[in-house]
Parts: sequence; C-alpha cells; structure tokens
Amino acid sequence: MTRDIRSLRNIGIIAHIDAGKTTVTERMLYYSGAKHRVGEVDKGTTETDCDPEEQERGITIYAACVTFPWRDCVINLLDTPGHVDFTAEVERCLRVLDGAVVVFSAREGVEAQSETVWRQADKYHVPRVVFINKMDREGADFEATFHEIRERLGACPIAVQLPVGQGPPHQGDPFRGVIDLIELRLLTFHPERDGKEVRQEPIPDSLVESAMLWREQMIHELANFNDQLMLLALQEEPIPADLVRQVIREATLLHQIQPVLFGSALHGMGVQPVLDAVQDYLPNPAEMSPVEGFGLAKKPTDRKEVRPPESDAPFCGLVFKVLPAKTGDFCWVRVYSGRLKANTRVLNSTRDQKENVAQLWYIHATRKEREGQVDLVGAGDIVGIIGPRHSITGDTLCDAKAPLLLDTIEFPETVIAMAIEPESTADRKKLSEALEMMKRQDPTFRAEENQDTGQTLISGMGELHLEVIKHRLLRDFHLNVKVHKPRVNYRETIARGVQVVGECHRLIAGEQLFARLKVQFEPTRKDGNILVTSRCPPELIPPDLLTAAIEECQARAEGGGVIGGFPLSQLKVTILSGESHPLNSNPTAFRIAAADAFDHGLREGGPVLLEPIMKLDITTPNESFGDFVGDLQQRRGEVTHTDTRGKLSLIEARAPLSELFGYSNAMRSLSQGRASCSMQPLHFAAAPPEVAAAFGA
Ligand code: GDP
Ligand code: MG
Repeated sequence: MTRDIRSLRNIGIIAHIDAGKTTVTERMLYYSGAKHRVGEVDKGTTETDCDPEEQERGITIYAACVTFPWRDCVINLLDTPGHVDFTAEVERCLRVLDGAVVVFSAREGVEAQSETVWRQADKYHVPRVVFINKMDREGADFEATFHEIRERLGACPIAVQLPVGQGPPHQGDPFRGVIDLIELRLLTFHPERDGKEVRQEPIPDSLVESAMLWREQMIHELANFNDQLMLLALQEEPIPADLVRQVIREATLLHQIQPVLFGSALHGMGVQPVLDAVQDYLPNPAEMSPVEGFGLAKKPTDRKEVRPPESDAPFCGLVFKVLPAKTGDFCWVRVYSGRLKANTRVLNSTRDQKENVAQLWYIHATRKEREGQVDLVGAGDIVGIIGPRHSITGDTLCDAKAPLLLDTIEFPETVIAMAIEPESTADRKKLSEALEMMKRQDPTFRAEENQDTGQTLISGMGELHLEVIKHRLLRDFHLNVKVHKPRVNYRETIARGVQVVGECHRLIAGEQLFARLKVQFEPTRKDGNILVTSRCPPELIPPDLLTAAIEECQARAEGGGVIGGFPLSQLKVTILSGESHPLNSNPTAFRIAAADAFDHGLREGGPVLLEPIMKLDITTPNESFGDFVGDLQQRRGEVTHTDTRGKLSLIEARAPLSELFGYSNAMRSLSQGRASCSMQPLHFAAAPPEVAAAFGA
C-alpha cells in the first residue's frame, strides 16, 4: 500500500537565518506527536540539526527531511538552511517541494536572505504560506513586517489571523494569541502543556471591532478571486468558512496570494494553525503539473515528454540529496510519477547506468532507527533509497522501459579554494575516499588531487563552506591533514578580440607534419565553460582532423591561462578556417596547430585576470553604519544600496572576495557583535593591475 497522494504535502520551511525555521520544525514534530519532547536550538537538541557541525554552530547546514502525520495528511518536511553559503541546498530543496512555509521574524521583518529565498521560490513556482514568528520579541511589529512583504517582495499577503498584542510577556500589551479571521474565534496556547492544547473562545468584546475590520479586509481581497464570494459579500450575507478556505486555497495554488499567520514558535504559540494551513492551502502532489523531461533513446532527444503525477504512469524521480552511510549511500528521491518497489532495478538516465533499489525508507531526519522501511512508494512521495552506487544529486532515476531525463539541478562555479595535504600514505587513501563521499553529498564542493605536489585542492562557495568541510575532515573522518590558508579561485580571459594563425611544420619521427588553422578569440561576459566552435568550411579540413583541433582547444581552455595558470573563462573560441595536406596532415598535426593558435590568441588578446566578486548584505545598528561603509571602501567594495529599518541600517554592497577573508571577525569588531552579514558569489570581474601584478602579469 502506498500513501494516498491526496493526503501528501511536500513542503519546506524557508527563511533568513535565525528567523526560527528549526524551532518551528521542532514544534511541528512535537505537536504532531512524532516527537515527545521539544528540542531546542540553543541546547543543540533539535531533530533536524543532527550534524555535530550544525549543533555547534546552531545553524542548519544540510537540509534534512522529516515526515509526520497531521490531521488527515502526511507532511514530508524539508528543513532548509538559511545561510547563503549554502544556497545550493535551498535551491535543490525547492526543486522537489510543492509548497513552502516562509518564516519571517516580526522584529527583523524582511531580511536580505528572506528576499533571496522568496525569489528562488518564485523561480520554482512554489506556493507559499507565511508565518510571522517571534511575535513575543521586544520590538516585534507585525504591521511593518506585513507591509514589507507587500512592498519589498512585491507579494500579495493576506492576513487570515490577527495577532492579539505583541512583544514580551508582562509588559504593556504582550503577545497572547491570535484571532482566527475565518472562524472568528480567539485561539490561545497554554504554556503549562507546552502549547499543546489550543483553546478556542469567542472573540473578547474589546477586540471585536478590530477583528471585524481585518476580516473585511481579507474578504474584500478574496472577493477578487471568486464570484460567489463576491456576491455574498456585496449582499452582506454570511460567508461560510469552507468557502473562504476554498478561495484561499485556489488563489494560493495559483500564486495570487500568500495567507499570513502569526505566532511565537519558541513559546509554542500559533504553530498548529500553520499545520492546518499546510493541509488546507498548500497543494498535494496530484495538483502539481506533470513533470517534463526529455525522452531518451540512448541519448537525449529533443522530444519533450511529460509524466503525470499518477501511480499508473511509468516511474520517474529526481535524486535531490545523497547521504553516504556505512551500509551504502542513502539517496533521497522525489517520486514524480509511477511506483517504486524495493528489490528492483531502475535506470539512472543521467549516467546511463542501471541501479539497484535494495531498500526503501520513509525518512525521519537522519536517524535510521526511527524511520520506517517500506516495500513500495507511489507518485508524489519522498523516499530514501539504499542500493544505488553511482547516483548523485540532480540525477534522474526512471523505469528502464520508459526512459526519461529530467532537467538537472544547476550549481554555480566555485570561488574559493584551499590546499590540503595528508600526513601519511594511509591518510592519503582515506582522504580521497572521504572527499569522494563529500563530493557526492555536496555538488557545490570540488576536490582535485595534484599528482606532482601531492596536494589536494578543495574548492567551494565561500569561507564558511570550506571551514565546514575542513571540520568534517578532521572531526568526522579523523584525518591527519595539513590545511593551508584558503585562497581565491581566479580565472583568466583576454582583453580584446583577435584572429590568429596557428601552424604545425614539423618533422616528427621522420614524418613531415603540416596543419594550419585560423582561430578567433573573443572575450565575453559569461562565466563558465569555454565554448569552442568551428565555422571552417568542411572541404578545407577533414572532420576527424577538425575534431582533434576542437578537442585540443577545449583541453587548453581547461588547462589554464598565461598569468597564473588559472582556468580560462568568459572566452569564446571559433575556428574560422584552415589548411590541410593530403599526405602530411594528421590529428597530431592539428593538435599542435591548435595549441600554437591558443598561445598566440592569449598573448595577442592581452591576458586579463578575473577575480570573484561577492554580494554582501549587511544589517548593522545605525551607529556603526559609517564604519561599515568606510571599511568596505578600504576593501575595494562598492555600496549599491542602503536602507534603514528603525534602529538598523541595511547595506547592500559588492566587493572582491580576496579582500573579504576574515570578514566575519572584522564585522564583529566594527559593531560589537551586533551586525550580521550574508555573502554570496555574484560574478567574475577584471582584477585591477596591482592584483594581477602579484602573478607577474
Ligand atoms: P533558524 O536559523 O531559522 O533555523 O532559526 P532557529 O530556529 O535556529 O532560531 C534562531 C534563534 O531564535 C534561536 O535562539 C531560537 O531560540 C530563537 N527563536 C526562534 N523562534 C523564536 C520565537 O518565536 N521567539 C523568540 N523570542 N525567539 C525565538
Ligand atoms: Mg536552523
């Protein structure tokens, strides 16, 4: 028996770091009965932050998945990380989610990272319910936060509740509960039972007037989406609660509105209504449009195929996370169509390899003993598979009889690298195994061994990313490795477009070789791999020789430039024409000519060093604003936008990564620890001459 698809909700909780995602998740597990005790982030006892690194830092790095029942449904919930160094984790979760709960702090409002994740959710068309958390904090301002969601995010929030009071207990008008604007009743949550019991009462007289105002506002906006509701409102007839919920659901699924709820997860207030909203307003997998992919006949064809979210369709699913375990890798898969059975084989269509599906598990965080093993899962579900040996994040698994290739998950280029050296031969072997394992878990992390120096270069998305990897090597894998300082991952390109000729006139092993190529090199603005193409008329060079020339160009592009041997980027290479000789030309001759053209092209085009530029979003108390801007200027930074929110200033800036090492420490001393910053790679840009000069350019 598979779980009923209409009862499933695959959702994620997304937010800025510290808004309270993990705390909300803990409360959800507790109230659903999946857990008998509330874990606390501050004590390192939560269910989803189960990596020691996370417990120590109190942040969620690796998205975990938990599953639990609520009312008539089963919720598969992915806890996503809020730190920007880990955006790839967020992206890959959004790919497999059907809906999200976006958590904001009523005190901080819409923060930089919440804006980023909101845009990511837009990109993947994820319907959202909003939870405004920390209503108990000093300085909580629900109206300001609500307003910011509308203004800064361009969203259409609709309050389906009205908070009663805001701010800490025993002062002024503290946060005490919420008014449900649909059923028109007061909900309170009682600390003696950890908020487990939700009390429903009539709205107190003193609050009736404001509750009715907010309800009217809600009905007024919802009327735009439904004629029946509009009519009832116009005629001032009673509007049934079920109709209101139905309209909210329909408009939420069409991304027209986002229902908003309020609470304080830490104090166990307002979380159960969020779970109700997940069931009532977020889609089940059967309501999602069919996934699209390329039909496969050995190689991808141009033919797009769709698979409906139905269990009778052929099986296809996406691996969105790999968690190595002693018993073999644990692949987390979103099943889009069909059924998956234990003890069968499927096709990994990304790698064209058959994989074993030995066991299937419903997942409860990463603690195996609490997960349930099953024989069969149906369309729409999320499941952990043991058995696959080659699959990594982003791969498609499908029925071998009906092959299909889904869009893979794209990951950005790495910007920072660090050399590590194993202390002994035994460590070397262990190190390469550990790195292999970590690469499969984290597709934004790269590792390469340099045979000549014995060093291994690991690279990633930021200082914190590498720091976390380093700690895992030392702590989880108990490796003895020497770790060097992190350094910037530069790239190289050329200053101007040039056309050059590359030749081969050589006597090799008694044979006279000849080849000539005319090649164009052009700088582009696009990061990423070099595009080598040919516009050479086919009668000039036979196809196998031309292929050899293109391959050589590609290899040279990966091999690195003339300044510091950094990989080439932002470059377009076109073979324009060439000459071959019926007897004296062969692939070797054309490889030599291509290499010769490359050397000329790079020198004559004027080599340019490219450095990674990071985007910074800084939040600081107003009094430190000037110091931050001054400091950024010294780091070759550029402030692109500033804003204030009460006592806080927001600074949006960009600066070269090379100037940002140790920025978190500097930031702490500039603000006495009161500022926060998120950083993410933006693009690569030409480095100024003094930076390039350090490499002798
Ligand atoms: P995450 O980074 O989004 O996962 O946030 P956490 O759940 O780790 O919470 C960050 C901090 O905020 C922790 O110290 C929590 O105890 C605290 N916190 C979370 N929710 C609330 C709340 O509703 N009220 C208050 N006062 N603190 C909260
Ligand atoms: Mg967390």
